[in-house]
Amino acid sequence: MTPMSNPDLLSVDEALQQLLAAIHFVGTETVPIEESCGRVLSNPIDSTLDLPPFSNSSMDGFAVKISDVAHASAENPVDLALVGDIPAGSFPSQVLRPGQAIRIMTGAPIPDGAEAVVPVEYTNIDRHEAGAQLPKSIRINRAVTQGDFIRWRGEDLPRGSQVLQPGLRLRPQDLGMLATLGVGMVNVYRKPRIAILSTGDELVGIQATPAQGQIRESNSYTLAAQIGSCGGDVVRMGIVPDSLQQLQQSLDAAVELDIDLLMSTAGVSVGAYDFVRTALERNGALNFWRVNMRPGKPLAFGHYRGIPFVGLPGNPVSAFVGFEVFLRPALEKLSGSRSWSREEHSASLIEAVKSDGRQSYLRGVLTRVDGVYQVKFASHQGSGNLFSLVKADVLYIIPAGVKYLPAGSMVKIWFI
Ligand code: AMP
Ligand code: MG
Repeated sequence: MTPMSNPDLLSVDEALQQLLAAIHFVGTETVPIEESCGRVLSNPIDSTLDLPPFSNSSMDGFAVKISDVAHASAENPVDLALVGDIPAGSFPSQVLRPGQAIRIMTGAPIPDGAEAVVPVEYTNIDRHEAGAQLPKSIRINRAVTQGDFIRWRGEDLPRGSQVLQPGLRLRPQDLGMLATLGVGMVNVYRKPRIAILSTGDELVGIQATPAQGQIRESNSYTLAAQIGSCGGDVVRMGIVPDSLQQLQQSLDAAVELDIDLLMSTAGVSVGAYDFVRTALERNGALNFWRVNMRPGKPLAFGHYRGIPFVGLPGNPVSAFVGFEVFLRPALEKLSGSRSWSREEHSASLIEAVKSDGRQSYLRGVLTRVDGVYQVKFASHQGSGNLFSLVKADVLYIIPAGVKYLPAGSMVKIWFI
């Protein structure tokens, strides 16, 4: 523990570990591969084929024997009898003999007896004219060696090897591999369903004109998009007034909708109208609610009637940061993914930073000088200041226990 840490506050890492330990993979389903990009694979995929499935040519050219062409050059070209033609999609029965060449197209099977392919560019033929008569012989003016321009059967992937591991979020190239293997339907984790409740008497919908003292509810829009970027489905429970009874009603309604994780914003602080903690204590369990971070110290995690629950702070920046720190990894795990650590880069501070010793996630504008990222404040860093987030390229992190970092210090950055 660092000297400046407050023993009443949970560290970000401890909080994240507790949260992740309580999150379990959702169930699985089978989908056509054309709908599987971005979904998380739940079963291993082994190759049922050698890839490539047969030895084939990687160039348009001529299949040859090495002994015939090993010394071919522009000064000493070699003439070979052209005895056949192998278009892609055909399969040769002819065996290549010394002194012979067989024309072959990219992807066409290598005939027995052939040891290399001479690309058409190494011969006296300019290009293969479609439909033209095959010449009786060809002249080769450059040597090739054993195996040149041949893609051997199984060299990419031998049959029986594991191709894709469970927990992988499928990418376009993975779909191509599934198609190659003839896998048309694939087992994936189903999309997690996340309910969002926005609590607060001051909130009105985006169509409404706020009366005095009211503001438009914005957190659910930011969070829904963040959830979407993790591959989750959002169930919007709308605005819930600051009333324990109405909060419980709304949570109960969400529980009926087969939700995998409940999420709320606001009402987790120590304000007179903050009921989220009470609702959890009465209907489930509350695991923690004060985390050593800034913004976003009040953060509730627990279960409501058996469903994992995360109560984010109401301030828009705090809610956003709380999602990035805790919910993005939690949703990755919920989705079945095995890698929930985030890609981190580092940047040099353009200006010195003071901190209060909590782990701080500041909004930064990024530039790149001589290949090195440099970061500075996006603007006023208040946790209600959504515009600072709009202007920011990154969050940059001042670790817990650090109260001052001079300009030039290196900090971790997260692209947002
Ligand atoms: P609270 O956590 O309830 O103390 O709220 C903290 C601040 O966040 C207050 O200024 C709220 O008005 C604001 N806030 C709470 N919920 C939302 C929301 N859904 N959208 C925008 N601002 C909110
Ligand atoms: Mg409130």
